[in-house]
Parts: sequence; C-alpha cells; structure tokens
Amino acid sequence: MAVGKEIARKIHDLVDRDMTFMHICGTHEAAIARHGIRSVLPEQLKIVMGPGCPVCITPQGEIDAALELVDRDCIVATYGDLLRVPGSRGSLESSGGDVRVVQGVHKAVDIARSTEKEVVFVSVGFETTAPTVAATLLTRPPDNFSILSCHRLVPPAMKWLLEQGEASLHGFMLPGHVCTVTGYADYEQFPVPQVVAGFEPDDILLGLLMLVQQVREGAHRIDNAYPRAVCREGNRKAMDLMYQVFEPSDVEWRGFPVIPGSGLKLRPEFSMYDAQIKFGIEFKHVDKHTACICDKVLRGIAQPDDCKLFGKVCTPRTPVGPCMVSHEGACKIWHTYQLKKA
Ligand code: SF4
Repeated sequence: MAVGKEIARKIHDLVDRDMTFMHICGTHEAAIARHGIRSVLPEQLKIVMGPGCPVCITPQGEIDAALELVDRDCIVATYGDLLRVPGSRGSLESSGGDVRVVQGVHKAVDIARSTEKEVVFVSVGFETTAPTVAATLLTRPPDNFSILSCHRLVPPAMKWLLEQGEASLHGFMLPGHVCTVTGYADYEQFPVPQVVAGFEPDDILLGLLMLVQQVREGAHRIDNAYPRAVCREGNRKAMDLMYQVFEPSDVEWRGFPVIPGSGLKLRPEFSMYDAQIKFGIEFKHVDKHTACICDKVLRGIAQPDDCKLFGKVCTPRTPVGPCMVSHEGACKIWHTYQLKKA
C-alpha cells in the first residue's frame, strides 16, 4: 500500500480543478468501496458509477419474460444475483416455479441432459460471459435447452452516455474484465480520456492518476494500467466465438432507451436455442412505478443515497430495485460499506 500512498499523493499534487470520472464496472465500485479509495482522493476528484452491473441494467421487461417462461412450466436456470430482481409481478425467487441457481451455462445444460422438461438459461452479462455461452451452444446442447439472451455490449452504452452529456464526465475508467476479452481498440472512437484499470487498490489509483494526467495535458487517449491482463487486441478467439453465435441487436437497458447495437441476439442458425423464438416471447417495455432511482444511478447522475428509499424501505433484505440486489449493484455496495456522498 506504500505504492498506493505515493500514487494518492501524486493525484493530490495534480488535481487543480473539478474532475469527474466514470467507471463502468460493478467490481470496480466494490473495490473502491471496500478499500475506502474515495476517502484518499482530493475533494475535487469524483468517481461516479455507470451501467457496469449486468444484473442492474437488465430491464424489467426481460425479468417479466423470464417469469413468463416459469409460467410455461420451464425450468429456469440463472445466476443467483438475478433471482431477487423485481419484475412487474414479483421475482424469479418468489415465482413458485422451478427456478435453479447455476454457476454458469454449462450447469444449465447438465440440467437439460437430466430431464425431458424444457430448460431455459437466462443469460445475462457483458462481453465477459457471452463467449462462454457461445462456446457452449457450439457443442450443440440437447433440444430441450435454450437461452433467453439478455447480454449487453459496453461501447454502445458509453457512446449513448457521451452523446447525452448529462453527467459532465472528464473521462472513463474502462472495465478491466471486459477489456481482457475485447481489448480496447473499440474504445478509441471516444474522444475522452480513458484508462483500462485492474481491481487492486493500486491498480485503481494508478488508473485515476493516468486519467488526471490526461486531463491536465488536454489529451484524450487510452492508457493501459492493467497490462498484466489486457492488451489492445483482447482475446480474438473469444470474440470470434461470440460473433459466430451472436449478432448485435438494438435493446433497451434499465434506465436507458433502446440503444442501437448494444445487445446480443442469437444468429438465425442458432434459433433453435433462442427461447424468445421457441416460446414466442417478446421483451416489452415496462414503465417504472416506484420511487427507485436506479435509472439515474446507472447513468452516473445520482448516487445511491440520493434515493429516498435507500436504507429505509430499500435494503438488501427488502430490495426495491436491482441495484440493491446484485453484489455488483451500487446501492447494495454502498449499503454494505455504509457509504455516504462526500
Ligand atoms: Fe432503487 Fe433501492 Fe437503489 Fe433506491 S436504494 S435506487 S430503490 S435500488
């Protein structure tokens, strides 16, 4: 941590104006909170969260689609974090159906091999998880298996955020996990300071220092503060697998409108594994009816304790919105570490 202290000192020396940086990764928020990183930064430097939690950005209409599959007597398998996310009429956990928590898509395929019932894997996640799902579908799972594809791609959401300009951002800390797979060439289209950062406290502080330096220089480039895991080209094999099975689609994100090319749908040659086609299910837009401000938190224009329900009506035991459910959700993280806005 001696290195971290030295980096923090340099950040203090260099920050000479207000600077706001956004990260797009729940794991970054968890690490920042766990290690108290905001407490060692100068007041003028703010870190805000973006749409970096894959469970949180899954809109209500997709949770409702998963609930519809339960009604169709399917076995619905997914990650534990998704279970308690509220849909329009309860959650998968409260549905009373055969809903199973699995560690990954391969476990859902194992379930399909052991039953004659239909098994649907609710497949959420960014470019980090989609290649694994693609590799599994290429092994041709049994006919009673399908996926509900709720995948999202990060760069189109960043483009949307920059076009709105509502969060007054000076730069982005790019998601280290996602960039391990995708590389960062695709982010070069964005004319703002960017840094790829890892997840140890020193990685995050170094990433922030590099962002501050770019702002001071009036530069915009992508610095790589995580070279032990990330290279510009990423993992081409994983990306090729992903695009062999999936193609980009226009989808809504929670808190965002439909963002062109920001989702992944199965290519026609894999349509037999597409639960939407198999069961004739559409993703429908659902208007928000609670005071939950997850939409604003996910766009970096509000922080969890701006929400009047935070820690009162909405707690990890009684979540009102997805950001209080997922381990990568900003509200759950802030509640766990008892954070408050500076
Ligand atoms: Fe939504 Fe709860 Fe977070 Fe408020 S505290 S924004 S209700 S998840």
